[in-house]
Amino acid sequence: MQPIVIIGSGLAGFNTVKEFRKLDKETPIVVITSDDGRNYSKPMLSAGFTKEKTADDLCMATPEKVAEQFNVEVRTDVHVAEIDPSGKRVLLPDDHLDYSKLVLALGADTWTPPLEGDAVGDVFSVNDLMDYGKFRTALKGAKKVTILGGGLIGCEFANDLSNGGYEVTLVEPQGRCLPLLLPEPASAAVGRGLADLGVTFQFGPLAQAVNHGDNNQLVTELSDGTRIESDVVLSAIGLRPRIALAKEAGLAINRGIITDKTLQTSAEDIYALGDCAEVQGHVLPYVLPLMASARALAKTLAGETTAVSYGVMPVTIKTPACPVVVCPPADADNGEWEIQEDGNNVQALFRGKDGSLQGYALTGDAVKEKMKLNKELPPLMP
Ligand SMILES: Cc1cc2nc3c(=O)[nH]c(=O)nc-3n(C[C@H](O)[C@H](O)[C@H](O)COP(=O)(O)OP(=O)(O)OC[C@H]3O[C@@H](n4cnc5c(N)ncnc54)[C@H](O)[C@@H]3O)c2cc1C
Repeated sequence: MQPIVIIGSGLAGFNTVKEFRKLDKETPIVVITSDDGRNYSKPMLSAGFTKEKTADDLCMATPEKVAEQFNVEVRTDVHVAEIDPSGKRVLLPDDHLDYSKLVLALGADTWTPPLEGDAVGDVFSVNDLMDYGKFRTALKGAKKVTILGGGLIGCEFANDLSNGGYEVTLVEPQGRCLPLLLPEPASAAVGRGLADLGVTFQFGPLAQAVNHGDNNQLVTELSDGTRIESDVVLSAIGLRPRIALAKEAGLAINRGIITDKTLQTSAEDIYALGDCAEVQGHVLPYVLPLMASARALAKTLAGETTAVSYGVMPVTIKTPACPVVVCPPADADNGEWEIQEDGNNVQALFRGKDGSLQGYALTGDAVKEKMKLNKELPPLMP
């Protein structure tokens, strides 16, 4: 029997293995990954200083340990360059592997800004444990860090690096923290929380260039002429689902790899989940949807075709300086925010035109309302 092949050893790939092994102990599974295959929880990468954990501390299991624990083969440092859906095989650098079923758990690429300058190659992005190891090494002896991007990852790192004693400057062209996730008063609360920790904001201008300056410093130049000197620059301006492999194999893609509710792609016996997938129009680069997907997919792979349902999927943002939890409304054009503020405690409720609760953003003490509001919200994808 050909194995089930899973490409990707992130939370999506390894959780699929874990859930499948609860149902089927024997069917051979091969996990292929272009990274080092260590099992870790990616969300912890932006809490390393707060939790006092280095890159190595964050490794929960070596690939050998995962292989033993779940009776799987894990092939590390192997980049899959091509899949052949009609031949049901994965082409490896100097070999190929036949599959009975293929799971694409490819994740997302960091989007790199179109920067100029002679130090662009020194700009970090942290999208896996290996990146984090290199980033932590670069931070040794550093004092100042510039972060490009004020979204979830940028704000979490701003908080964590401040907790680690670094002086942080955060550049966000959209003029406020978490602009895509929060209404303005909630953004302002997060901004005040981070500012109290010592974060400096450069809201408005775009980063245009990073050059080497004096004394081993890097100089980030903004579109309004501002120059920010720092020891390390971290780019966190966005992620793009990894769709190239699927696209070249002729699978249907849009923003992500298109799947139906059973996580099947347009090709028979090929499934996708996690950050690379677009499940009935939903691209949700977060852990909760990925866990629900892994549970449903495990059943399908074990022979009982199962649709995934997404309930209420709140995202907790790890900015302890101003706690945030958000359930973005599915249709942000069809309703209005209703906002109550008390200092950094903001309760923002998104109500549809019929008055029903469709989403929320809570900061500070208002995060305590989360459970109550979750009960009122409609499921994201029943
Ligand atoms: C700093 C940070 C903080 C976060 N915090 C939170 C949080 O608090 N809450 C939350 O819900 N979400 C958070 N997220 C998002 C969450 O971590 C991701 O949604 C999740 O980890 C994605 O898992 P994945 O398995 O889909 O992708 P990945 O973890 O990116 O795994 C993709 C895998 O595919 C492999 N791969 C890709 N292409 C190939 C190829 N061609 N050949 C072989 N292997 C390949 C890669 O090597 C990797 O093993 C955070 C993300 C970051 C970066």
